[in-house]
Amino acid sequence: MKFQAPKGTYDILPEEQAYWRHVVARTHHVCQLYGYEQIEVPVFEETALFERGVGDTTDIVEKEMYTFPDRGGDSMTLRPEFTAGICRAYAEHGLHGRPQPMRFYAIGPAFRYERPQAGRFRQFFQIDVEVVGSQDPAIDLEVMLVAWHLYEDMGIRGLSFQVNSTGCPVCRPGYLDRLKSYYADRVDTLCEECRRRLHRNPLRLLDCKNESCQPLIEAAPRILDFLCPECDGHFAELRSYLDALARPYRVNHRLVRGLDYYTKTVFEVWAQGIGAQNAVCGGGRYDGLIEMIGGPSTPAIGFASGIERIILTMKSEGITPPALSGPRVCVAYLGREAKAAAVALTQELRGQNIGTTALWENRSLKAQMKNADRLGTDFTLILGTDEIAAGTVTIRRMADSVQQTVSRTDLVEILNGRKEFPCSS
Ligand code: ATP
Ligand code: MG
Repeated sequence: MKFQAPKGTYDILPEEQAYWRHVVARTHHVCQLYGYEQIEVPVFEETALFERGVGDTTDIVEKEMYTFPDRGGDSMTLRPEFTAGICRAYAEHGLHGRPQPMRFYAIGPAFRYERPQAGRFRQFFQIDVEVVGSQDPAIDLEVMLVAWHLYEDMGIRGLSFQVNSTGCPVCRPGYLDRLKSYYADRVDTLCEECRRRLHRNPLRLLDCKNESCQPLIEAAPRILDFLCPECDGHFAELRSYLDALARPYRVNHRLVRGLDYYTKTVFEVWAQGIGAQNAVCGGGRYDGLIEMIGGPSTPAIGFASGIERIILTMKSEGITPPALSGPRVCVAYLGREAKAAAVALTQELRGQNIGTTALWENRSLKAQMKNADRLGTDFTLILGTDEIAAGTVTIRRMADSVQQTVSRTDLVEILNGRKEFPCSS
């Protein structure tokens, strides 16, 4: 019997880790720079939280959740995203009682039962950023800037920022009526999926990827023409900040969220050169969500960014992350008599905070040197019975293959660079 990673999942092998380490390190750096605090929420939650918090007419809840009864018979779901869990934590721990707003970020896996393709997986990793407790458009800008700064910090260039407003429960119903009647007159030309969605969640028709629906979407009524004064003012203020910072962005009337608790700002970031799954980031305001899941009425905004798509973008732009450093020292030994001393020396150096490894396996000196070469260590130490008797060790500087015998008492200082490598003249 041969096992494989489940469909839509993947292994991150050691040679890929430099990318992951880099993205995660830059995320911590940028989030701290903006004063965001890390939060961890469970990988699974009660199913009802996502049904309410993500919305039962969304793709995620309709067909993408990993839902299972646990052994006690309760329905649990692997998190398809972070926002609902973070809002649940906010309400559960009474965080509204602390100075507001609260700025959070999280990094971890999310799960969606999707058709796997490049940049689309069933287990994938997200960077999630949320600000809870502020309605100020300057916060919308700040959240967008965190995304911006992240990608810039990672060296990514060719990105396109798309923004829109999705209105609020005051102005959206009027828009929805117009949209429905617009589509009702054209029902014959809609794709099957859109026909089905028209009544359940008409906003999602604007998101249809089907070629035949594109001209209809282009000519559809636009929500920006229907915003109430409050939403209109909010969007104008956000745009004025974006304009003042000379940040390039595009107003995209197709960006929408079809649920009452998603309000005002929505945005996405698209990458070039990574194929059809080109959204590296999706976000927006959800002023009604926390109340919806049983907390106090609290405005909030956030985004999530898929790490796999970030890394795909880095690769397509030829960005190489800083290399991860391996051990600096390899210990080699001549014959079984020297092995015990080599074991002890290896451990002693690690105790001195010097990364050290050895090949073991009682291999020839040649094989041991080859291993050190392959690992790219700075030094190889060679122990034979002569060295052990004399209290010395032979040290080989790999860069120039210069080899010297030094006293064991000087060894650590030489490796640390506190004493010079003894070059005989
Ligand atoms: P898409 O339209 O690509 O399905 P989405 O609107 O479902 O994206 P969000 O729920 O906004 O995505 O999630 C935020 C980000 O998470 C996306 O922009 C993307 O980078 C990433 N993401 C979402 N689903 C997946 C997936 N199945 N595999 C990998 N990354 C994903
Ligand atoms: Mg999706």
